Amino acid sequence: MSEKIIVAKFGGSSMADLTAMKRSASVSRDQKANVVVVSAVYGVTNLLIALSENACKHAWENVEQVYDEIVLKHHSILEQMQADDTLYSQVDELLKQAKTLAHGMFLLRECSLKAYDSLVSLGERLSSTIFAQVLANEYTGKDVQWFDVRKVMRTDDDYTKAKPQIEEIAQLCNKHLIDAKYGNTVFVTQGFIGSTSDEMTTTLGRGGSDYSAALLAEGLGADILQIWTDVAGIATTDPRIVPEARLLGEITYSEAAELATFGAKILHPTTLTPALRSNVQVFVGSSYEPNEPGTWIKTETESTPLVRAMAMRKGQSLLTLSTPKMLHSHGFLYEIFKVFNDFKVSIDSITTSEISVALTLDDSTLLNSKIIETLGTLCDVKVEEGLSLVSLIGNDINHTPNLAAKIFNSLEGINVRMICLGASKHNFCFLVKESEATECIQRLHKEFIG
Ligand code: ADP
Ligand code: ASP
Ligand code: MG
Repeated sequence: MSEKIIVAKFGGSSMADLTAMKRSASVSRDQKANVVVVSAVYGVTNLLIALSENACKHAWENVEQVYDEIVLKHHSILEQMQADDTLYSQVDELLKQAKTLAHGMFLLRECSLKAYDSLVSLGERLSSTIFAQVLANEYTGKDVQWFDVRKVMRTDDDYTKAKPQIEEIAQLCNKHLIDAKYGNTVFVTQGFIGSTSDEMTTTLGRGGSDYSAALLAEGLGADILQIWTDVAGIATTDPRIVPEARLLGEITYSEAAELATFGAKILHPTTLTPALRSNVQVFVGSSYEPNEPGTWIKTETESTPLVRAMAMRKGQSLLTLSTPKMLHSHGFLYEIFKVFNDFKVSIDSITTSEISVALTLDDSTLLNSKIIETLGTLCDVKVEEGLSLVSLIGNDINHTPNLAAKIFNSLEGINVRMICLGASKHNFCFLVKESEATECIQRLHKEFIG
């Protein structure tokens, strides 16, 4: 029987230093991963963003300070591994590009989204360059190759949130990565980044390496996608919020997708779309404790609990749009959704009454956007910021009598803003003040999971 084709992705904490990289290399080898997708070294994407922000503010001293931190993070790994001159010069060449781009931004006092993507892409290009060597040191009998993912990760030119071109990616994977499938080669490549057809570097959005790995698994026709991170699987909620959170052995694609969409950082929200579309099995485990059972994401699970997990999504704005024009008329919803479409803004949850519509968006979508002004020409617009969406994820959640009563009894004293129930049998969510969201999750976890 032929061996299963595996794409393994390692996040920033699995790339944090040489020890973490070596651990991730052993996992890749033991799992016989065919393609290894990596994030930037822990904290480096944030530093690259800080670099661009300081450059735009014309604060060169701060640029240099941040740049030195980036250099130090990579050089200390190189020193520990006693890297040879070739690796040093490859890394230094990438670091030099970061400085050059930052200098351009400094001179212009501006950072286009295109320039921003080129700059932040260096995080993954640096980590993968080093990790390819760490992995090569682990392997005997396999050819480990660094691979520039931009050769296959074709996207549109919507910089900072580029959309992958699925068919082209599959064609390019079959052209350039075929040795991963049938040959003796292990490819080490970058998550998060892509390229337009005219070879401009793009990124898929923060946390996008999970998505990259899923797209490569799909493009390659892989059997298994492994997401290796710093927790031993998907838990009933973020263990940083509730230390008693329990690890789940299994969860369905729909539940895991809801969990990711509603704020669980463990997976990028779009990761499961390619996996589900192309029947790739998904596993989530810890590179720190690779022998723990981890979580398998499945089409069907043995148990279907009412509440399997919960999540919160911070930084939400509630928009209430009202107009008497909505009364007994049609076309109003069409007009307002057209505005959201024109501004490419995605709505998270929504409720309507006879003369008003309330919906939630990420706070960030309102920055620099004329969307409120445009909506204001159609109706009255009220904006409330600083909210969090709290959601319970499970099964038949929209059909269970008394569930709402039980939820709200346990939230006594907390002011709940908008409630969304009914659209999905897997999700019940509501809005609260950001400062109260953690408390909500803690109380709900105690009530429903224990
Ligand atoms: P990586 O750098 O490996 O991509 P992330 O920081 O993006 O890792 O995601 C892992 C983190 O997700 C965990 O450290 C944990 O705090 C957080 N998290 C949020 N919700 C959950 C959940 N339900 N189960 C497990 N981890 C969660
Ligand atoms: N390095 C990128 C980020 O920090 C992508 C990722 O880690 O998934 O957002
Ligand atoms: Mg992540």
